[in-house]
Amino acid sequence: MRFVDVALPVPLRRLFTYRLPEPTLLEARGAWSEDVRVGHRVAVPFHGRTLAGIVVETHARPPAFETREVLGVIEAEPVIDRELGEFLRAAADYYLHPLGEVMRTATPPLAAEAVRALSRRGAIARVEDLRGARAARRTQTFVRRAALAAPARLGPRQREVIAVVEARVEIGLAELEALIPGGRAHARALAKRGLFVLEEREVELDPFFASPVEREVPRVPTAEQRTAIDAITAALRAQRGGTFLLHGITGSGKTEVYLQAIAEVRAAEQGAIVLVPEIALTPQLVTRFRARFGDGIAVLHSELSDRDRREAWERLRRGEVSLAIGPRSALFAPVRALGIVVVDEEHDGSYKQEEGFRYHARDMAILRAQRAGAVAILGSATPSLESYQHARRGTHTLLTLTERATPRSLPRVEIVDLTRTGAGPSGDPLLTLPLHRALVETLEAGDQAVLFLNRRGYAPSLRCARCGSVASCPACSVALTEHRKARVMRCHYCDFAAPVGTACGACGAPELVEIGLGTEKVEDHLERVLPSARIARLDRDVASGAGIEAVLERVKRHEVDVLVGTQMVTKGHDLPGVTLVGVLLADQSLAFPDFRSAERTFQLLTQVAGRAGRGEREGRVIFQTYQPSEPAVACAVHHDYLAFAEDELAKRKELGYAPFGRLVAVRVDAPEEGLAESVAERLASIAREQVACVSGEVEVLGPAPAPIARVRGRFRQRVLLKGRDRRPLRAVALAVLTAIDEGLAPARASLDVDPVNML
Ligand code: ADP
Ligand code: ZN
Repeated sequence: MRFVDVALPVPLRRLFTYRLPEPTLLEARGAWSEDVRVGHRVAVPFHGRTLAGIVVETHARPPAFETREVLGVIEAEPVIDRELGEFLRAAADYYLHPLGEVMRTATPPLAAEAVRALSRRGAIARVEDLRGARAARRTQTFVRRAALAAPARLGPRQREVIAVVEARVEIGLAELEALIPGGRAHARALAKRGLFVLEEREVELDPFFASPVEREVPRVPTAEQRTAIDAITAALRAQRGGTFLLHGITGSGKTEVYLQAIAEVRAAEQGAIVLVPEIALTPQLVTRFRARFGDGIAVLHSELSDRDRREAWERLRRGEVSLAIGPRSALFAPVRALGIVVVDEEHDGSYKQEEGFRYHARDMAILRAQRAGAVAILGSATPSLESYQHARRGTHTLLTLTERATPRSLPRVEIVDLTRTGAGPSGDPLLTLPLHRALVETLEAGDQAVLFLNRRGYAPSLRCARCGSVASCPACSVALTEHRKARVMRCHYCDFAAPVGTACGACGAPELVEIGLGTEKVEDHLERVLPSARIARLDRDVASGAGIEAVLERVKRHEVDVLVGTQMVTKGHDLPGVTLVGVLLADQSLAFPDFRSAERTFQLLTQVAGRAGRGEREGRVIFQTYQPSEPAVACAVHHDYLAFAEDELAKRKELGYAPFGRLVAVRVDAPEEGLAESVAERLASIAREQVACVSGEVEVLGPAPAPIARVRGRFRQRVLLKGRDRRPLRAVALAVLTAIDEGLAPARASLDVDPVNML
């Protein structure tokens, strides 16, 4: 009799043992008669359901209890090979997360029909049924405005749809639906009323392969690039692995270093993984990889259908494709003979998964590379302090690119001190006179500008003129943001919306006053004070996925003079016509209740400044700020990463925060405030008891309400476990986890190892 230990996607940190049926029986059920091996995905019965899990061990040791039988094998080949399997076990162990859930994150989704087949006992899906041919093209419907005036009687969702279509000029119905649930149906209804025009067009299914790219040859590296490439090549040839931190200023040609290192790996018939923060924001990177290596690349972006994701995944597993590019989940790509893992913009917060299996893709990339004997390259203009400190201590090898690869030097940065500068013609204090003048000069020269403000909507909050209370979400402790064109007040946490004009919730007064400035209002102001300029906006209200590129393409074609946007405009786009970058409120993110707020501010400012002057003409950057002498702002003005890092590292050291200390956050939430408090209190006291039993220092901070104390009707509490060394911290975390595993319903609690989001 043979048994398998299976990792199931259930919130229990243990494996489950099942009996293997006789081979003939498996065959009779339509599965493969060959041996079930480690890494195979199998269907098993679990509390009345059928679940798909991964075989982690096969053995002949009968367990003490009655075992049930494996129903069948889902794919002919193991879906997780040894290298990946061992890495996933290490990752599950590091994050104290159930292996089955980790493995589910790392394996391709099962098609709906396959899952249905699995739920009928004995019927085993064949891998052929899970695939199916990939349609290369499909028709998509696009929508545009037809009439100019909107009729008076429209619902809030319809207004939102109109606002988005206006902002985008043209948008695909699929993207509209992604931005506004129900948007597709509304657009069709509005087309019937003559307000919209619909047009069907053939589009490439995969936007990243929509147009052919011309092949290019490697560039002659600059001296600094040469040094970096040589160091990486030497490590690759020696097959000794190692992690490199590639610190290169914006535009220094980090991508060329990745490309040449990967070319080396491919020449040795090994595979590569390239992680990018948000792939929709960096379509150009994919283009450059295609230009260098051809179309044999798996781009694992979020808009792939399950079937296409599976197909890409299969091609990698079979070794037909050896290069995977994608956001954090591409970390798990089944690339064969992994030779290199590149993490571009390694400092980016989106590498942290914030729900379920809360892993950090950068940290896990290092781990995976290490275990596979591969090289890891972390690239950034503004390395995370964790990575920089590793480089200082010699754990990572530091490679630096101090000059731009093109003749343009870094742009000049000017400060506008908001405490002593007046408003320009718009009257808004954040659209100052110096910024207005700079805009006018830029437009007169025929150049383009980018304005960055990290707040979408029209007015970030609304206050009652009579009683002074701020309109807030009924389910979350956050203010409602006014979206004027859509005429709604919206919660950015749960999407609750109320029509603008709703009376004050506290006193019933009809009048609410707008407070502050959002990107929509900036756009509005600019349209008024710069009537001949073409203004466009890029934020989550108007674009998602491939649509982001559509907006950027318009900027590149110079159909837009001024682009206003949130963080989306700060990423690595190459917009050669942009000579002016304005940051409306440089210290905006400094006030966040988070020990990384200064670091994030510095990174954001440096990245957005790097968007200016990438083309023929010199760039110019304006930081508007109330705190010009804050190191995060002052160092960004001088493009001085090292000064910022030294200053900030000294502060972190004093406070014992990363990279000098570790945190585990215990997140608790419950439908009642009192319950959240008492559960958090209990978990904190369990942690404190455990602290007494471990050798090594661990501090237990809290419990305290989370900075955003309520979200979606649930009250949130935090306990922070803080320590220098991993071992004692882990012991304390495990004690808390044991209590969590026993169940806290209706309260919930989870651990977040190395937390990033402190809200
Ligand atoms: P980074 O990723 O460091 O911001 P990029 O890789 O985008 O920089 O490079 C900036 C620009 O410099 C790109 O247009 C790129 O094609 C160009 N470039 C990079 N390396 C070289 C080189 N060795 N010679 C000429 N141009 C280069
Ligand atoms: Zn809400």
